[in-house]
Amino acid sequence: MSECIFCKIASKEIPANIVYEDDLVIAFHDIEPAAPTHVIVIPKEHIESLNNVLDIHKELLGHIHLCISKIAKKLEISKEGFRVVNNCGELGGQTVNHIHFHLLGGKQMNWPAG
Ligand code: 5GP
Ligand code: ZN
Repeated sequence: MSECIFCKIASKEIPANIVYEDDLVIAFHDIEPAAPTHVIVIPKEHIESLNNVLDIHKELLGHIHLCISKIAKKLEISKEGFRVVNNCGELGGQTVNHIHFHLLGGKQMNWPAG
């Protein structure tokens, strides 16, 4: 059985506030939101990070971004705008080693990120 927290969320072993799900992707509210809307979007397949994607994941990565666009509309943050973040590896600030995309909205974002 996987020890990965996001695999456990994907398999419903641990609960999450799910906002979207299909065969390949699941999205849920972040447990420690950094913005009024903060959703984590993951592939159900365990891929460690953007360092570990392969040619076979091309379609999946495109699909994830299409899902993000749909979720942003569903949560009514698309018109005002939103941010999508992928933290990769140690210096990128990745803490959960299952590739995921943060969808953040509902407040003014600044750039560059700190
Ligand atoms: P990272 O820092 O790896 O880019 O992002 C991991 C994110 O997952 C963090 O924002 C953290 O709050 C969130 N997170 C960690 N554990 C859980 C959990 O068990 N449930 C939910 N919903 N979010 C989690
Ligand atoms: Zn995993």
